[in-house]
Amino acid sequence: MASCTQLLQGILDANETYAAAFAQADPALLKKLAAGQSPRIFWLGCSDSRVSAELATGVAPGSIFVHRNIAQCFHKGDLSASAALAYAVHVLKVEAIIVCGHTGCGGVRAGMQAAVDSSDKAAKGEEEPAPEPGSVADTISKWIAPIKSLASSQLPACSAASRSPLDTLSLAELTDQHVRDTVQAVSESDIVRAAWDEGRELSVHGWVYHVATAKLRDLDCGYKGVGVRAESLSRPATYADSEPRDD
Ligand SMILES: [Zn+2]
Repeated sequence: MASCTQLLQGILDANETYAAAFAQADPALLKKLAAGQSPRIFWLGCSDSRVSAELATGVAPGSIFVHRNIAQCFHKGDLSASAALAYAVHVLKVEAIIVCGHTGCGGVRAGMQAAVDSSDKAAKGEEEPAPEPGSVADTISKWIAPIKSLASSQLPACSAASRSPLDTLSLAELTDQHVRDTVQAVSESDIVRAAWDEGRELSVHGWVYHVATAKLRDLDCGYKGVGVRAESLSRPATYADSEPRDD
């Protein structure tokens, strides 16, 4: 395996090639991008290294304004996510917001694992040890707390179906529901409500990226106004429809 220094040198070398190819293929776009950006889409996605908004959608630079964090959360009081959304909606005037989750999300899995651990401890009558304030465990557990809470609400359904909460289908269902909840939270934010109050055309959508196939799936859970559903987009309807089959 290459050393990290070699890896970084390789990335800089690759950038030289990329820049030269870009300048040759589309000098007009380079000039346009240097003058400013006018993306029409805001993307709230996961930080996962396998899920790139631009690569997954094949769009040119300048097309999508992106904010990423672990498991594409939109927590109340998250200044970073709120500032990115506010800038996208009210300065760049994007027309669509996409909340994009993905299969195999470590944040979603951690939320489910935390819910399972809590449930096991509660069943044994044991108390959960609180992580040391400021520790890595504390930081991560605070971040995934809403996913853990959502996962806890799904445990009875897993149990009724005699299914492990950590199996692929259970995690896929949790991923979908977390995206739906995040779409709801974004749609109910003052930032988006203000745009709708101004009569702006702005839609919010929930998608899931399937790492095994590189395909996107629309969950059909979007809004284009207060209580007004966004148009359904062409998509595989369910998790099963979008996964490769062995048979
Ligand atoms: Zn993720």
